[in-house]
Amino acid sequence: GSLPAESSVRTLLRDVHERYRDLQEGSVADYIPVLAEADPDLFAVSLAEAAGPMHTAGDTSALFTIQSISKAFVLALVTDAIGHESVHEIVGVNNTGLPFNSVIALELNNGSPMNPMVNAGAIATTALMPGRDGAAKFEAIQEGLSAFAGRPLRIDETVLESESASNHRNRGIADLLTSYDRLRIPAQEALDAYTRQCSLLVSSDDLAVMGATLAAGGVNPRTGRRVVSAEVCRDTLAVLASCGMYERSGEWMFEIGLPAKSGVSGGIVAVAPGKGAVGVFSPPLDRAGNSVRGLRTCAYLSRALGLNLFASP
Ligand code: GLU
Repeated sequence: GSLPAESSVRTLLRDVHERYRDLQEGSVADYIPVLAEADPDLFAVSLAEAAGPMHTAGDTSALFTIQSISKAFVLALVTDAIGHESVHEIVGVNNTGLPFNSVIALELNNGSPMNPMVNAGAIATTALMPGRDGAAKFEAIQEGLSAFAGRPLRIDETVLESESASNHRNRGIADLLTSYDRLRIPAQEALDAYTRQCSLLVSSDDLAVMGATLAAGGVNPRTGRRVVSAEVCRDTLAVLASCGMYERSGEWMFEIGLPAKSGVSGGIVAVAPGKGAVGVFSPPLDRAGNSVRGLRTCAYLSRALGLNLFASP
């Protein structure tokens, strides 16, 4: 199947934005001090079709830090570099059922991070990027994520500084990874590269294009450039399907039926393989850390556009 005509997709986006713009639920993340200053009213929805067309509604020029959504695309880059088997063996691909910053998950599993969407697995994944040190690895990440977005992404220095000064828990996780001999570079370098990748600025349009690149088998619909292989897209989407939405990944799949990834600054990317991707931005989060308007928007669009992967045709 494919998406409905462009004009009806555009109307749906306008409708869903109208429908949820006044929804006042959830609260803006504040464990990274500067994120608490985000405007809770910002709300943007973008849909990038795998075939190229782009649809938008709301504050699509708003930029926000990508945060945990970076984990999905760094996983894709690392899978491209080291392969399916190595990701399976070294990082793991099972849901933990525990919060994203859990230390217990690592301890329970003998120092195996369990999956690349929790911080332990994400820091281990970042450390697997090509490059001789943390700085080189981050450079490859910035270049790779920019290729997914189809434009150069830059760091929000204020958020980077704020998170670097307050990320004691992630520091502990990186040190534990070192104690289990899971990092081949110093813990501080892996942590810095990870914190930088979280601080890259994106818009809802960027998220949609990045997701649409995964939907299109690795070719960016905005630039026409191949970023990763089709096999890598398949592997990445499989991980997002089970672990992309924090502890609500099961409920998300039950309601929406699409691989997706969220982040604490209020972004969500949801991918419809072969069709395209939705990028949403709205800072207020539910208890699990997912954007409240983002969840509702994706549920509405999945239903209205018939995107649920498990629905019979
Ligand atoms: N930079 C954040 C952290 O590691 C990302 C968290 C998130 O978006 O879930 O704490």
